[in-house]
Amino acid sequence: MNFSILSSLLSFFLLISCTLPKPKEPVAQPIGIIIHGGAGTILRENMTAEKEAAYRAALEEAIQVGYHILKNGGSSQEAVEKTIHVMENSPLFNAGKGAVLTAEETIELDASFMNGATLDAGAIAGVKTIKNPISAAIEVMENSPHVMLSGKGAEEFAAAQGLEIVEPQYFFTARRINSLQRVKEAEGQTQASAQERLFLDQQRYGTVGCAALDANGNLAAGTSTGGMTNKKWNRIGDAPIIGAGTYANNATCAISATGWGEFFIRSVVAHDISALMEYKGLTIQEAAKVVIHEKVAQLGGDGGVVGIDNQGNIAMEMNTPGMYRAHIDNEGKLTVKIYKDE
Ligand code: ASP
Repeated sequence: MNFSILSSLLSFFLLISCTLPKPKEPVAQPIGIIIHGGAGTILRENMTAEKEAAYRAALEEAIQVGYHILKNGGSSQEAVEKTIHVMENSPLFNAGKGAVLTAEETIELDASFMNGATLDAGAIAGVKTIKNPISAAIEVMENSPHVMLSGKGAEEFAAAQGLEIVEPQYFFTARRINSLQRVKEAEGQTQASAQERLFLDQQRYGTVGCAALDANGNLAAGTSTGGMTNKKWNRIGDAPIIGAGTYANNATCAISATGWGEFFIRSVVAHDISALMEYKGLTIQEAAKVVIHEKVAQLGGDGGVVGIDNQGNIAMEMNTPGMYRAHIDNEGKLTVKIYKDE
């Protein structure tokens, strides 16, 4: 064979090998998890180094639990549930133990969960004895024909499902008892001082929430809260309302909200973010910005959201000075933040 034939044959095979479709490398589905521990008037000048360290440690402990579940191939549902358990069991947050008190000096807990793969959802409101309300929300979703249960009925249902039931006293902490007294005193005054007003402001928030994306591309979100200090008449906020405090849809994103619940219900915050992505093609960050800074803020409300989309992109958006929040990305990189400007 002469040289020119050989070189033409070689170039021919080279060309073929370049143009033939290569066997596809399986693209690894990213995982990710994001949490919040409430948004509000969280200011550096009012924070001690110990308090800040305690919050950062609690956020990290909680999110690592969920991340390890995802990393080991577990579902986003399990990651959200177990992550929220850590925050519900911590007295630092306004969910489960450490929740805020109502005007009647009781504790009434709300929670919701949504599965983005099936669009199944569950919620409970106004419960006083369920140790981990997020699990009760999941039980409602999985083992009842309903989406939302409240009060005594929700407690009976949770007990029948084998969930841990505790005395109402379990949830009380000295810090929240004192806060209620101060809030009542300040609300009774016609002219509260600037310091009192700041204190009132700081008592409003502290809800916990989580959104996760698992290795199967499934999204889930959950939110759990004691609501707002000094709430009256069995008030229910946005946290247990699917579409307001919590929403998840594999086609778009998973969202958990925190803030002044009345405004979040009226703005249908969590679903609105998903809808802007689905119908208008916005990214999760663009959508979260519109809903928090334009919709909620224009009504006069404040708070924030955390969310993750089906590619692992995230949003942490707030119109308050701070939001306790953390994220672990697909590479395992942890971010923990408290103040808006960090
Ligand atoms: N959104 C909650 C509620 O209104 C409060 C919070 O997020 O801190 O009940």
